[in-house]
Amino acid sequence: LSQRIDETNTKNELGQLAHVLNDTFGRLDSSFEQQVRFTADASHEMRTPLAVILAKSELALVRERTPEKYQETIKTCYDSAQHMSSLIESLLELARVDSGEFKVQREQGNVGLEVSTCVDMLRPLAEKRGITVESDIQGIEMEFDAQRIRQVVINLLSNAVKYNHEQGKIFVHVRKENNEAVISVQDTGPGIKPDDLKNIFNRFYRVDKSRNSKQGSTGLGLAISQAIVQAHQGRLEAESEFGAGTTFRMRLPLK
Ligand code: ADP
Repeated sequence: LSQRIDETNTKNELGQLAHVLNDTFGRLDSSFEQQVRFTADASHEMRTPLAVILAKSELALVRERTPEKYQETIKTCYDSAQHMSSLIESLLELARVDSGEFKVQREQGNVGLEVSTCVDMLRPLAEKRGITVESDIQGIEMEFDAQRIRQVVINLLSNAVKYNHEQGKIFVHVRKENNEAVISVQDTGPGIKPDDLKNIFNRFYRVDKSRNSKQGSTGLGLAISQAIVQAHQGRLEAESEFGAGTTFRMRLPLK
């Protein structure tokens, strides 16, 4: 609606008005459709862990059980509740993105140092799967939201661990390129096919739904990471060779 009809051009006024209205309705339609789909997907995602909690607790209530069986039931209910909790956190975060309330708080800091901290944090998780993490990190002083950028790096690193092969490798690089800080996370996992790669930043998109749901995945991590990077006026890119591995690259402008 920011467009205005040229008042001096009376002949084409109606045509232009129709064009502006069509364009506006088109955009409203598609954003409405997106919202409807988002709500439907979110409800669907919440239903699965809730169904698990209901079924397991109902069984525990009606059947005589051993302490071990109760323990197992409580563990399953706890895991499902944890999954719901992280799902709700992510949905609230995306709601803030959609409403324009999502803001980053930039402060002067060293982005390389933050990435190193994340690598140290995730290393034990990688080692559990026999995965080695190598890094080549340049210290770069810049203004950025340290907490948010850590969130992105942790998401990329935990994906690189989660979707990697056992005994695989992860390479983390931070370097200055022209006027950007470039942070990349490369893995030797199964890679992503081009058709899936196009969609992986879409909300709820998972390449292998059945396998991923067992790993507590929500399909929201990359959508949130992209929103954080875009709020820094940066770009988050993915490159993959199916069967060989995937590289995620975050580019943050220095000024
Ligand atoms: P989640 O990991 O919770 O499913 P993400 O948004 O972080 O959500 O990732 C979306 C999907 O992209 C994942 O489900 C997975 O299929 C795919 N993916 C992400 N990172 C990688 C990776 N490093 N290697 C292979 N596939 C990946």
